[in-house]
Formats: sequence, structure tokens, C-alpha cells
Amino acid sequence: MSIDKKLKVAIVGAGPGGLAAIIHFLRVPNVDLSVFEAARELKEIGAGIGINQNTWRHLQLMGVAEKFEQFFTRGDGTKMDVENRNGTNGKLISRRYQSTDPNTPARSRIERYKLQNALLSAVPKGLIQLNKRLTDIKEQEDGVVLIFKDGTSEGPFDLVIGADGIRSVTRSYAFPDHKLSYTGKTAYRIIIPGEAVAHIPDIPQGSCFWHTKDTHIYTNPLDNGLFEIATRAVIPDETGSKVSWGTEVPKEEVVGHYTGYCETIRKILDVPEKWLEFAIFGGPRLESVIHGGRIALLGDASHPLSGAFGAGACFAFEDAYVLSKAVDQALKNGTSIAKALKEYDEFRAPHYKALYQVLDGYARTAEEVKSLNAELSDDEFVEEIVQKGLAGNTKWIYEYDVTKVWQEKLDSALKGEDGLDKSLAPGVAAIAVTA
Ligand SMILES: Cc1cc2nc3c(=O)[nH]c(=O)nc-3n(C[C@H](O)[C@H](O)[C@H](O)COP(=O)(O)OP(=O)(O)OC[C@H]3O[C@@H](n4cnc5c(N)ncnc54)[C@H](O)[C@@H]3O)c2cc1C
Repeated sequence: MSIDKKLKVAIVGAGPGGLAAIIHFLRVPNVDLSVFEAARELKEIGAGIGINQNTWRHLQLMGVAEKFEQFFTRGDGTKMDVENRNGTNGKLISRRYQSTDPNTPARSRIERYKLQNALLSAVPKGLIQLNKRLTDIKEQEDGVVLIFKDGTSEGPFDLVIGADGIRSVTRSYAFPDHKLSYTGKTAYRIIIPGEAVAHIPDIPQGSCFWHTKDTHIYTNPLDNGLFEIATRAVIPDETGSKVSWGTEVPKEEVVGHYTGYCETIRKILDVPEKWLEFAIFGGPRLESVIHGGRIALLGDASHPLSGAFGAGACFAFEDAYVLSKAVDQALKNGTSIAKALKEYDEFRAPHYKALYQVLDGYARTAEEVKSLNAELSDDEFVEEIVQKGLAGNTKWIYEYDVTKVWQEKLDSALKGEDGLDKSLAPGVAAIAVTA
């Protein structure tokens, strides 16, 4: 592409992945960015989101981490951050304290709207076109055309980034055989005023996972006097009708799943009259998330991991970063966008493969614990599973530094140590200066 012609890039979806893609692509010179979002207004539903070490590092990279500090008072290292407890008897299994280090998140959980607002603060006003629901895609010789529910179309674009979430229309277009299915698990979530549960004794002062053999419940006093409750239930879908996402359900539909929990939890669950139900869907791993040299998926659109690691937003950030860097490099080197997409695909695919392997491992661990000692009581089983999970091999997910790994890849390309085209080298030098 000639240097005087701007690359026309469309981002579909303005969730965490789309917003991160905007922030990263705004840093790429010679890009003409269009963003289309189905929602009429950008608002996040009331629930919390986990902020891990890698999420925090990436928020710093995007220049928005300090937006969160106003919500935290970092303590002296003695404030409780997160506990794991046995859900049936309340016994403490593990506890961690809040970090005092500004390079790590103070709290491991915040309301989702705060994440969204922080990301939005770095996005120019008016860039996101709202009420633009993508319904179809047309590929032409001169680019990709997006067709919307309102009857309009936009394009042609040189690159379309599908950041349109778990039910991605972009994915359905590019990979029509990929199907989602209900995982058999449903989450109920709600945020209520903290004073509504203040009378209940023994509520932990920080985030707490309450585990039983089959399910868990999460309680969390948020700042601004709010209190979050998130639960998981195993619910078979006999009618095949589970499609809900954020549907309001009455208390009676929720509490019955948790009668075996300790009194503290039962009292907490009894407080909200209404809950939001999230039937959890997932899908198999896509080996490739690019199509036709001009379409790339990211975030939940690319890999619907259903919140399994509590880090899906960060996976989407990492995708957006790598994609923007690969495209930046192509523009600097005058190589094709199709090649940049291939590099993006090849860089991210092994990471996602490893994540899916961890998921398989979770199921294996539970089976292993069961088979090692069939005599294990439910309480012992819970303790063993939690301890194994804590000691388990997932630290690498949260410690992963995508900028470092990307730089290492570029460095080895510069040295000609891997299969990458040597023509990357000038781009590497340019990136090293501008990073
Ligand atoms: C129960 C649960 C708990 C979770 N907990 C955590 C957690 O603690 N920490 C964490 O990091 N992650 C968590 N996740 C995962 C996290 O929510 C997602 O991974 C993350 O939101 C993915 O961001 P995204 O931008 O890819 O998709 P989304 O957040 O789904 O955003 C997609 C955007 O695209 C828009 N859109 C959809 N279709 C169209 C269309 N056709 N045209 C135009 N726009 C469209 C949507 O309106 C939306 O704004 C959890 C997920 C679940 C299910």
C-alpha cells in the first residue's frame, strides 16, 4: 500500500476488545478508523469483572490504569483482597491481601462499567457509531463491505476487525461451521447496596469464593458501598431453550440451587428480589481466526472462553495489541495486510491453544482428585480442588506480558532465527523507536 493512502480499518463492536482495538489502532499511523457498535448507548450491565496482573499491565500500556486509582485506597498490605472458603461450612481455605504496589491492581475486582469508562476515556468522542448492528458482510475485490440492520452499508474496508463478542456475526460469516453450545452452567449475578447485607454476620471484608463440590458463589464488597454476588449453577437445558444473557429472573429461581450452602450465604442470597441470569455458552477453539486476508477476529468473537479464567477482557486487549502491531509493521515495511493477519494468527493461536488445554486440565484435575481417593468427603474434596487450583499451573496466564513476547519475536526475526520474513527488520527498528 502506498504511504499516502490510508488503510481503511473497521472495528465491529465496542466492548473491552473493540475499545482496546481502537486505542491500539489510534497509535498506528496512516490508519483511517471506523467503529460500529450495535448498542444504542454504551453502558455495561451491573456486574463485576476481575482485574488480574496482566489486565492491569495492559491498562497501564493503554494509558488508562490511573483512572481506577480514584476508586481504591491502597492500604498498607493488611487489607483483605481475596479469600477462598468452603461454601457449606464457611471454613477459610486461603487468603490474600491487597497489593500496595501501583504496578499491580489494588483490588482484584471492580464493576464492569468502570473498566468500560476507563477505556472510553481514551477514545475520541464521536468515533464510535452507535445503533449499527452488523448483519452481513460482502467481500469485493476492492475491500470488505459491512451491511447493517438499519439497511445501510459501509465500506469497502481494507481490514475488518470482528470484536463483536461471543455471538459474533463476523465469526458466523467467516466460519459458518463454528457453533456455540450451552455449557450446562448458568451464572446469576447482581450488585446491591452493601447496607442490604450489613446485618448478616461473618461476611468477609474482601472478595470471597465460596466453593462446594459442584458450584461456587462469589461475594464482594465493592467500593461506593455496593455489594456484588455472582453464582454458578449446574442446570441442564432439557428444552434447548437457553439463550439468555442478562435476563432478569426472580429470587425464587435462584435460591433453590444453593440450599446446601452455609447460613451466611443463604442469608446473603435471600436479599436480592431479582437477579440477572447468564446462561453460559462456549465453543470449540478456532485454529485460525482470520479470513480472506482482510478479516480478523479478536476477544470473545475469536475464542468464546465463557469467562473461564476471569481474564477474557485481557485476552481481548492482548489480541488487539498484537493485531495493531502486526498491521503497523506491514504499513512500515510495505508488506500486505494479509501477511500481517497471518502473523497475528500465528502469534496468538499457541496462546489460546494453551488456554484451552488448561480448561481440559481443570476437568482432569477434578477426576484425578476423585479417583485418587474415593473415600474423600465433600469437604475434603473441595479443599483439595481449591488447593490444587491455587498451586496449579495457571500463573503464566496472568504473568504473560504480550509486549515482551512480541518484542522477543521481533528480535528473533531480526536475527533471522525463525521463519519470519527478514523484510520485517526495518519495521522492527522503527517500532523499537516508537514503542
Ligand atoms: C460469567 C462471565 C464472567 C466473566 N468474568 C470475567 C472477569 O472476571 N474478568 C475478565 O477479564 N473477563 C471476564 N469475562 C469475560 C469477558 O466478559 C469477555 O471476555 C470480554 O467482555 C470480551 O470482550 P469483547 O469485547 O471481546 O466482547 P464483548 O464484551 O461481548 O463485546 C462485544 C461488543 O460487540 C457488540 N456487538 C455484538 N454484536 C454486534 C453486531 N452484530 N454489530 C455491532 N456490534 C455488535 C456488543 O454490543 C458489545 O458491545 C467473563 C465472562 C462471563 C461470561
